[in-house]
Amino acid sequence: MNTKVITCMEDDDKGCLAEAGSIIRQGGLVAFPTETVYGLGGDALNPLSSKKIYEAKGRPSDNPLIVHICCFADIYRIVSDAPEHRQMLEAAGRLADAFWPGPLTMILPKADVVPFETTGGLSTVAVRFPSHRTAQALIAAAGGFVAAPSANTSGRPSPTLAKYVLEDMDGRIDMVIDGGEVGIGLESTIVDLTVEPAEILRPGYVSRDMLQEVLGRVETDKACSGEGEQAPRAPGMKYRHYAPKGDMTVVSGKKENVVEYINRQAELAKSEGKRSGVIATDETAAGYRADIVKSVGSRTDELSAARHLYTVLREFDEEGAEAIYSEAFEGDGIGEAVMNRLLKAAGYHMIQV
Ligand code: AMP
Ligand code: MG
Repeated sequence: MNTKVITCMEDDDKGCLAEAGSIIRQGGLVAFPTETVYGLGGDALNPLSSKKIYEAKGRPSDNPLIVHICCFADIYRIVSDAPEHRQMLEAAGRLADAFWPGPLTMILPKADVVPFETTGGLSTVAVRFPSHRTAQALIAAAGGFVAAPSANTSGRPSPTLAKYVLEDMDGRIDMVIDGGEVGIGLESTIVDLTVEPAEILRPGYVSRDMLQEVLGRVETDKACSGEGEQAPRAPGMKYRHYAPKGDMTVVSGKKENVVEYINRQAELAKSEGKRSGVIATDETAAGYRADIVKSVGSRTDELSAARHLYTVLREFDEEGAEAIYSEAFEGDGIGEAVMNRLLKAAGYHMIQV
């Protein structure tokens, strides 16, 4: 298959998206920019489209897709309106007022029209209304309901640039819409509204505190930080994710200890003939003696770490890093989301120094 690439920046006229919309309506796949990462879009109400998405990504078919909409009212078409579900919808309405359009995905009981192929066999559906204007225009042109996981091969870092989409998807999908670099760089926060209290299944830009201001108490699934023995509730969380090709370790502790430990490990790697890489911050980057040192930005700007993390992980692959060490991040906002992705990329391999 020949993958067509078109360019459409957020401020461009959206007439150029008519072809992309018709590809999706006819059952094809189009990758497109959103404010979080690039998505791989297909018609969410067409089971064959969802099958194609799983195939293109090499994604296990029990890992459900997020359905993207382009106005709040469309949620009523894809979620259940049974009386026992009304309260969940009411909570969704309040969250939508506060955070939509934006990087928040809500889990709700699904309506019959949503095929099980899209929800990985679940009776719930994940819904998001993105704020990116190109994404919104594409969803509208495609008929209003676009299933879109991140546009990477399953297990690899999510794409923050169209060139990374092509790296994984060239020849496997019909079209890529190049909209430049994405803004946030990490996937949406996922909140499950079918449980009481509501539960965060994946941390993101919209933090627990922000959700609690609207909903009252909100829990975070233990699996987000690698704790807890229970199977993760977002099926996607049980798979290794975002992983670079090299072995990765997250190192947590006092700044000086972290730098010293990583430098020792980098020397050890060198003695074994392995290329070492460090995910550093502006404050520490000059202190590392590894083969490749990449800063994700200043500690004072957590959004920068989110925006650069996946790019750095892909660059380590390009440059052949075999032993990768990352500083740890904390906090309860985007810092928590960064740490969650780092731990997954490292297969939860973390060392405290
Ligand atoms: P991605 O689209 O690649 O960001 O992945 C979507 C994430 O949403 C995966 O981790 C899924 O497991 C999760 N997800 C999608 N639908 C549901 C659902 N109905 N219930 C729980 N998690 C879901
Ligand atoms: Mg993904």
